[in-house]
Amino acid sequence: MSKKLDQAFQNALNLGCQCKCGQQFVREGNSLLCPNGHRIDGNKKGYFNFLSKPVSDAYTARLFEARSHILNQGFFDGILAFLLPEIREDAKILDCGTGDGYFLRSILSQIPGSSGAGIDLSRYAIEQAADLSALWCVADLRSLPFPDHLFDVILDILSPADYREFRRVLAPSGKLIKVIPGREHLREIREARKLSPVHESLSEEHLAKEARILRREERLKTFSINETEWQNFISMTPLNQDLTEDEQRELAMHPSPTITVHFVLITAAL
Ligand SMILES: [Zn+2]
Repeated sequence: MSKKLDQAFQNALNLGCQCKCGQQFVREGNSLLCPNGHRIDGNKKGYFNFLSKPVSDAYTARLFEARSHILNQGFFDGILAFLLPEIREDAKILDCGTGDGYFLRSILSQIPGSSGAGIDLSRYAIEQAADLSALWCVADLRSLPFPDHLFDVILDILSPADYREFRRVLAPSGKLIKVIPGREHLREIREARKLSPVHESLSEEHLAKEARILRREERLKTFSINETEWQNFISMTPLNQDLTEDEQRELAMHPSPTITVHFVLITAAL
């Protein structure tokens, strides 16, 4: 039994991981088993895969690797600075679309007594995330493998939302923290590609219909970057998912000396 898998079971059972049929899982050997006989096998890399069939994975390992470099170099730490004061001690946190787990891991290491789960549709992402700090799951946010009203905080950072499911797993006093790209986000890449600026105002309007907004901030910062960092930004942004590898390489060969990050950060009650 790997230490990672052992810890994954402990994290899963402490959070009360739930089958899609609504029953609690119990541990049986290397599997989570529900009373109706559904079974999720633990992965020796230290995560669980709750998808009944694999999804076509548009986001590749290369994308998550590039994203991980960018996060670890602190380019998105404006998000972290917003998140930390919003989360109290002992909070149970769900990070939807966790990617390589950077934000959840950073929070858990800084907020005493906090615990949490990170889910992502991408197996590549969760394989990079899986460590001992949290419960890591390949799962669909439209069918969260958790019991009702379990979490104090849901993080939805640059990721889609399912408010019905969020409302189900969030405690009545809990809050959602949503981060969406602002109008100036990655302006240099849009300019290099002659794309028009897009503020995801629709996601914000949708959120305002579903939730009560408690706090809203925008953070914008322009960084000087080198060629490697430019390449990482090119590789990690979903903006460039429509480009072929050759087209991405071409774009990477004309580096911008700066990159702008711009986020809209919202805390809301559901
Ligand atoms: Zn079941």
